[in-house]
Parts: sequence; structure tokens; C-alpha cells
Amino acid sequence: MDRFSRYVNELFEWNEQMKQFLESEEVGQNSELWEQLDDFTELIEGTDRQLSNEELLSLQAKAEHIHEHMENYFKRKQEVGTIWVVEKTLQPGEHSLPELPYPYNALEPFISEEIMKLHHDIHHRSYVDGLNKAELNLKKARETNDFSLIKHWSRELAFHGSGHYLHTIFWNNMSPNGGGTPQGLLKDEIKHYFGSFAAFKQHFSEAAKQVEGVGWALLVWSPRARHLEVLQSERHMLLTQWDTIPLLVLDVWEHAFYLQYKNKRAEYVDNWWNLVNWHNVESRFEKAADKKWSTV
Ligand code: MN
Repeated sequence: MDRFSRYVNELFEWNEQMKQFLESEEVGQNSELWEQLDDFTELIEGTDRQLSNEELLSLQAKAEHIHEHMENYFKRKQEVGTIWVVEKTLQPGEHSLPELPYPYNALEPFISEEIMKLHHDIHHRSYVDGLNKAELNLKKARETNDFSLIKHWSRELAFHGSGHYLHTIFWNNMSPNGGGTPQGLLKDEIKHYFGSFAAFKQHFSEAAKQVEGVGWALLVWSPRARHLEVLQSERHMLLTQWDTIPLLVLDVWEHAFYLQYKNKRAEYVDNWWNLVNWHNVESRFEKAADKKWSTV
């Protein structure tokens, strides 16, 4: 067998392996991936194994294209060790209360068992329920085209959504074996931005102690500034859902439209859709969609 034939045989085997792989991953038969692999099989079977250089290069380019396509597809799934699992996506109303990652009394003496039980079972659960309810009501609003309560449900979505997401982060931010100082990249970044761990700790503690009323202190990563930051949040939000990434935003401050539209904000909003750069939103989405935390 000459080199070319061997190469074509290898491609053929690779193609078959990919099909088995798609089957094991239960990729739907209607997926474009299947079509591409089937086309490729036909192409290989149709060649007479006496390929010219050009034909071989074109075959190779096709193989690379399919490979890239598959890579993108599976990037959307989560890698757990070496096993690929189908990424779970939550439908409206499907949030659930995550288990605590340790027993209720595990954080004693610093946080009592009684607090943890109330905090997790009662308070956190009510955020999960409230978030589900808000999502379902907004789904209903979309279906019936009745947005008369949009302000109420958006507020609920932000309040309960931030409540659920922040508590989920909070439980996992703590451990009975916690304390000490961070290591690795985080250690370097804290030193780089705050000067020292002690300076960061002081800043964070003051932010927490001085939140007006109820709320949170948060250490965040800013993908824009590419540095860490410490923020305060009064209550959970000002209509935001912490732990989300903005993709498409519309400025409805009066300075954005008043000179031209006067008080006709609705007209400005309707016209604005003519300007949306979906390529930009798509690219923000593709990068943001790589960030996946556990759904429970
Ligand atoms: Mn709380």
C-alpha cells in the first residue's frame, strides 16, 4: 500500500471512529455533524485511491474542517476528567436548591449549625423558589405578549436570581478546612493588584463591614480591566443578577436619546434594533458561553 492509500485509509478509520463517538455521546441524528461525516464517508469511498496531490489536499482540508466543527460542538459540553458529558441547560423554572458541600455543623464554632440550617434550608430555598417563579411568569409574559408586570418580575428575577447564585457561591467559598491564604495564580494576582494579601483582606473586610443596610462584599474578576476588584452590593442587586455576563445592552438614560427623540423612549428603543451588531453580540456570547459553573 502506498503512502496516499494509507492516508486515505486512516481518514476512513478516523471517520468511522468519529461516528461511533457521536453515537456514544448520543448526538442527535439531525445534527449537522452526522451529515458532514456521512458526506465524508461517501467522498472517501468514491475515491480510487490513486489521488493527485491536489485531491489529497482537498480531502485533507475537508477533514480538518469537520474536525474543527466537532471540536466546537464538544467545546459546548463540559469535560469531566477524560469523560465528556452532555451539558445540562436549565429551562425556565428549573433551578434547584444545591446541597451544602458539608454538614450543617461543619463550620462551627465560627458559624453555628442553627444558622446554617435556617440560612440554607429556609432563606436559600426561598430564593430558588422566587427565581423559578419569576422565570415562569416571564415565560408566560412572552407567550401571551402581556408585559404589564415586566417591572415586577424583572425585579423578582434580579432579587431571587442574585440571592440563589450568590448563596451557591458563598457555600462553596467556605470549608471546614478553610482559612490561610490563597496560592497559585490568585495569590499572584492579589499581590499584583492590591499590593499584598493583608491589604486585600483589609479592603474586603471594610467593604463587608460598611455595606449600607444588608448586602454582600464581593471579590470579582473584571474581564475588561483584567484585574481583580472588591465591590459592595446593597441587598443582592440593583436589579442585576450577579454571576451573569452582559451580552447585549441598551442605554435608555435620557442623554442617550432625548436630543433627538424627546420623551419618546419607545420610538428610540424600536429604532435601535436597526443598529444591533449581532456579530459583536455573537462573539461576546461565544466567549461567555465557555464559562460554565455547575447548575446545582
Ligand atoms: Mn444569606
